[in-house]
Amino acid sequence: MNLHEYQAKELLAKYGIGIPKGVPAMSVEEAVAGAKSLPGPLYVVKAQIHAGGRGKGKFKELGEEAKGGVRLAKSIEDVQRDAADMLGNTLVTVQTGDAGKQVNRLYVTDGVDIAKEYYLSMLVDRASGRVAMVVSTEGGMDIETVAHDTPELIHSITIDPASGFQPHHGRAVAFALKLEGGLAKAAQKLSKQLYDAFTALDCDMLEINPLVETKDGELLVLDTKMSFDSNALYRHPDVAALRDETEEDPMEVEASKYDLAYIKLDGDIGCMVNGAGLAMATMDIIKLNGMFPANFLDVGGGANKEKVTAAFKIILADPAVKGILVNIFGGIMKCDIIAEGIVAAAKEVNLSVPLVVRLEGTNVEKGKEILANSGLAIVPADDLGDAARKIVAEVKQAA
Ligand code: ADP
Ligand code: MG
Repeated sequence: MNLHEYQAKELLAKYGIGIPKGVPAMSVEEAVAGAKSLPGPLYVVKAQIHAGGRGKGKFKELGEEAKGGVRLAKSIEDVQRDAADMLGNTLVTVQTGDAGKQVNRLYVTDGVDIAKEYYLSMLVDRASGRVAMVVSTEGGMDIETVAHDTPELIHSITIDPASGFQPHHGRAVAFALKLEGGLAKAAQKLSKQLYDAFTALDCDMLEINPLVETKDGELLVLDTKMSFDSNALYRHPDVAALRDETEEDPMEVEASKYDLAYIKLDGDIGCMVNGAGLAMATMDIIKLNGMFPANFLDVGGGANKEKVTAAFKIILADPAVKGILVNIFGGIMKCDIIAEGIVAAAKEVNLSVPLVVRLEGTNVEKGKEILANSGLAIVPADDLGDAARKIVAEVKQAA
């Protein structure tokens, strides 16, 4: 789960981390009132969407000349004009794709007098099994470009969970950022606070770009992105409450209500599978047979009729789907129960595209019998390869 910049900053501030003062706003009036509550005279009006690159982004509805989604405003009137310009319009950035994202929230913050911009992020490094801090003196810009062109300017510092964050980690961060004196001390303190926040909140990624040194010699978090391990969200109801579903794919939101792991993809063949590993293998074998999966969908171990029906509806809501491949291993759930679920669901949703079903496991013969006697045009398959070949052939034939 991801947060908006203002939400992430408010969380970080609870750990003592320095952020510029700011006020979120859902309307032009709130933006103006927010600006009035700030010291001024410089303000920054920032579009709140779950994507970076806002500063260099373009609004679809405004001309090429219009400014992006992060704007410096020199007066309350400027704040008012920028807020009116952005709210309700669609911001396209390098991270949103061509469709862009509608701006429904703003963050009005203090304008900061920047001396230098740095980069600092934290993530769970799977290779070392540790939390890593990734830092660079090249902040503010696209870090992927820095990593590509000048990898030597990016430093990674990993923290052993057994010993936790130690003062030497903080010194390594300050050294990598080439900071000295008071700023080095500030960087050491900040790294410890960030590590504490990251681990206490079960984050899986925290990126600060830029971290800035102000002309007054302070270190401030100017922009941040934070994402959380969804399997640990139950431990943080306050964080879970910050979820903004309008930023997510509507079908993925619907799927999460039924505890289905669904991810929309670009292909033509809808997949319904139990188990993430089997789902990955199913997607691979569809590609091997020359077509592409329209989604990843893991119905989980305890798939029942309600879940199967919800899964069918979600798959079919995607207009790109030209056929469905069901690949289920009946382990905990018996194949005959699953077959009944598939038949009931297919009837309920009035299935209009080819459906190939491969069942394996407990009571498989009974399951196959139920599918065969259903009166529906369900194509049975014997194994994974057979299922993939059949669904591709069916879809090509129907085209
Ligand atoms: P994004 O990464 O989505 O473009 P940022 O918040 O990083 O958004 O803003 C882009 C740039 O705008 C920053 O690198 C910084 O130079 C400038 N900026 C952002 N917030 C402020 C602020 N409060 N004061 C001054 N400049 C800012
Ligand atoms: Mg940024």
